[in-house]
Amino acid sequence: MNDCLFCKIVAGDIPSTKIYENDHVLAFLDIHPVNHGHTLVIPKEHFEDIYQIPNETLEKVTPVLKKMAVAVKRAVHAEGINLVQNNEKPAGQEVPHFHVHIIPRYNKDTYPSWEHGSYKDNEQQEVAEKIKNALD
Ligand code: 5GP
Ligand code: ZN
Repeated sequence: MNDCLFCKIVAGDIPSTKIYENDHVLAFLDIHPVNHGHTLVIPKEHFEDIYQIPNETLEKVTPVLKKMAVAVKRAVHAEGINLVQNNEKPAGQEVPHFHVHIIPRYNKDTYPSWEHGSYKDNEQQEVAEKIKNALD
């Protein structure tokens, strides 16, 4: 049995406030919003994270992200929108079904972020080379 929370939301076994859906993608309200209108966009098919989701599925999700970002901004008069997508626990992923957060933001918000660091000497070049060598 699939024990995934978001698969149960797709199936309608767990109630949610659905905003938009097509054959492949569902958008619904996050139950604990950062601000009102905070929306989650998911593929209906179960993929755990960015590593698992096939490009063809991601290509179905992307236009819905844009559509929802525009609609959420318009609906709640957001002054900014964050798209956030967490992968694995150290990155804050709680629900292991690929999802993108659409978060309305306002000038009054204190922007929760990570601390920005710096590179010294040749570190920037070294890291860039490691990433380039890891490309498929
Ligand atoms: P993550 O931390 O995995 O990126 O985000 C998971 C999100 O799912 C959280 O923001 C959380 O509020 C939301 N969430 C958790 N359980 C439910 C639920 O039962 N219904 C809805 N609509 N959202 C949920
Ligand atoms: Zn799932």
